[in-house]
Amino acid sequence: MIQTLTVLGASGSIGQSTLDVVRRHPDRYRIFALSAARSVARMRDDIVEFSPRFAVMTEAQAAADLQAALPDHCTTEVLAGSEALSMIAAHNDVDAVMAAIVGAAGLLPTLAAAEAGKRVLLANKESLVMAGPLFMQAVRTGGATLLPIDSEHNAIFQALPHNYDGDFAAHGISKILLTASGGPFRGCSAAELEKVTPAQAVAHPNWSMGQKISVDSATLMNKGLELIEACFLFNCAPDDIQVVVHPQSVIHSMVQYCDGSVIAQLGQPDMRTPIAYGLAWPQRIDAGVQSLDLFSIARLDFTPPDETTFPCLALAKQAFNAGGTMPAVLNAANEIAVEAFLREQIAFSFIPTLIARVMALHEVRPIQHLADVMAADQWARDCALAQPETGHERVNL
Ligand code: NAD
Ligand code: MG
Repeated sequence: MIQTLTVLGASGSIGQSTLDVVRRHPDRYRIFALSAARSVARMRDDIVEFSPRFAVMTEAQAAADLQAALPDHCTTEVLAGSEALSMIAAHNDVDAVMAAIVGAAGLLPTLAAAEAGKRVLLANKESLVMAGPLFMQAVRTGGATLLPIDSEHNAIFQALPHNYDGDFAAHGISKILLTASGGPFRGCSAAELEKVTPAQAVAHPNWSMGQKISVDSATLMNKGLELIEACFLFNCAPDDIQVVVHPQSVIHSMVQYCDGSVIAQLGQPDMRTPIAYGLAWPQRIDAGVQSLDLFSIARLDFTPPDETTFPCLALAKQAFNAGGTMPAVLNAANEIAVEAFLREQIAFSFIPTLIARVMALHEVRPIQHLADVMAADQWARDCALAQPETGHERVNL
């Protein structure tokens, strides 16, 4: 049976890798809808190639430009706005949704896919960080199949027992070993970090990714967000997870069992592997990824993370332990801080300072409804932008 697929964030790094896997398997997958914020040329080419039923742009102007750029015979319906995004994520004719929008903007459509009981391929970790308990509840009540695409979580998913139900003890699991490359500034001192530029921060040694996640990798906030993501996905606590810096990015994460076994998933640092796994699970399909040559890799190194020089990891643990609205506040403050750093408004080393300040000013509230998450997200953005270093104007993300 052909699976129909909506790709949210199709023009991005994960979106394009997803289309590359789909391109290799026209007999298995059909693109139902594509979305992007504003990349008109990229979307036009992908629409011509995949002939989706819908294309959704975030802004009305981008939708109009896309419509004008499409060939006359094209039957794809072009829409704009966030309601259209949720519509293509929850549509009756969709089987699977790749959630690959970056940041909080991905929350509503990803949640809509979960509520509608889709196979949800989750790359957009920010939505789970913001609204973890609500999101996991939506997966259960909607009857969705949640497949983690983040390479570490995909590795953990592969290394867990196939019938894992959220109970570490019942399955003899003692720890999750979450690997981290350490990013481009691994080994740098606090003084060296003062001077790093956005261009240096986005130049990741092993992975080619979007700008925001590249900066997150450089601050270690990506590992912090991933730690929270793992706690929600696998029903565990920060103490159940050990972050292991492994600069080669060959082992994508591990699960340690009470009998002394450690099960790891290895592979090239290429997101097409976890994407193909998510698309085909429980089967396996060709992802276009070269097999691993262990002799050319020769060695694998492991060290503990430097949480003093890179405080974002500790901030994330603190946010998860505070619970309620705090992870949403951490995420929103981080989005503002990263944006301000990329605009050269603040120094790299000010990113954790700004997040810590916003968290210290936040009064944690329980999350009962989506409105609680949205209010905390907005509060944290306003609070971060009200700090003198970020200027008083709103940053339009
Ligand atoms: P990217 O910046 O390359 O692409 C982001 C996509 O989201 C683009 O299609 C863009 O048009 C769209 N987008 C941006 N802002 C939007 C908005 N306000 N509304 C709607 N759409 C919007 O990012 P990426 O590297 O592909 O990452 C996407 C997600 O996947 C992120 O959450 C990231 O953390 C996660 N992820 C990425 C990688 C990777 O290797 N790139 C690995 C693991 C997880
Ligand atoms: Mg990752």
